[in-house]
Amino acid sequence: MKRIGILTSGGDAPGMNAAVRAVARKAMHEGLEVYGINYGYAGLVAGDIFKMDLHSVGDVIQRGGTMLYSARYPEFAKEEGQLKGIEQLNKFGIEALVVIGGDGSYHGALRLTEHGYNAIGLPGTIDNDIPYTDFTIGFDTSVNTVVEAIDRLRDTAASHERTFVVEVMGRGAGDIALWSGVAGGAQDVIIPEHNFDVKRVADKLRKSRELGQKHAIIVLAEGVMHADEFAKELSAYGDFQLRATVLGHVVRGGAPTARDRVLASQMGAYAVELLLQGKGGLAVGIQNNQLSTHSMLDLFNSKHEAELSLYDLAHDLSF
Ligand code: ADP
Repeated sequence: MKRIGILTSGGDAPGMNAAVRAVARKAMHEGLEVYGINYGYAGLVAGDIFKMDLHSVGDVIQRGGTMLYSARYPEFAKEEGQLKGIEQLNKFGIEALVVIGGDGSYHGALRLTEHGYNAIGLPGTIDNDIPYTDFTIGFDTSVNTVVEAIDRLRDTAASHERTFVVEVMGRGAGDIALWSGVAGGAQDVIIPEHNFDVKRVADKLRKSRELGQKHAIIVLAEGVMHADEFAKELSAYGDFQLRATVLGHVVRGGAPTARDRVLASQMGAYAVELLLQGKGGLAVGIQNNQLSTHSMLDLFNSKHEAELSLYDLAHDLSF
């Protein structure tokens, strides 16, 4: 194997650049040639591919987003799209790939592996919703961004004795809400994985107000409902001086934390080692602080499980 390609696909996440850098630098260190593929599978099919050198990934480790851009390209789910991509791989002499993205991106990577082009997947998503990894690249940064926002909202909540409902990203997975809820000292955390009762939330708020806690933060994962709807439902049970705040895409941007940069660097270098061993169709993870691999097929048949002990903890630590 002489030449590898790298692409980022699906939703962007802080730390993707650190992963691209690690793949490129490790591969060059091992004497491989490296090609960057812009705009995910769309760019692969369009031949938007360039040769990287040591400087291509200079000054990017600290940047959010992805220097290789990302795009949705549903056509890649069809064999016709995949064959067009393979034509470009052949044209550029690319024999293997590292794909940084989520579950959808891994499907594309597995198809390429089945066609004889080994591809290794790295979990790049803020949602932390990929099985067989405790953490994904970008998750830590997004949690830290939410916590910073909660801290700021807490200042104004305390000054005016208000209750803030803070909506964070997470359609199917409540991880961002759980971790930022615990780290931000939230009164309540509402996630898709756990049922909730608005009346119980209201009773708890009322009780804590009676005990002298006049402000509160409730963290809500977007997959449950929108913050203004939730605030409306809650207001039926009393006057809690409610305000709804939607953090939205703010949480996707920004410089990656040290933790995300280290994780991305470890995973990126490991992906190159796996390709050098002739492996493909594998997803890299980190489990109990050890790098791990699982076949993508196994991964598609599993479901990510949020750390639900944090749900109980968040509730036990608030009054
Ligand atoms: P994520 O990778 O974050 O889950 P998407 O689900 O949008 O994001 O997938 C990213 C890209 O991966 C898609 O735009 C498409 O190009 C490719 N992809 C998604 N599903 C498949 C599939 N079943 N087969 C091949 N490629 C796929």
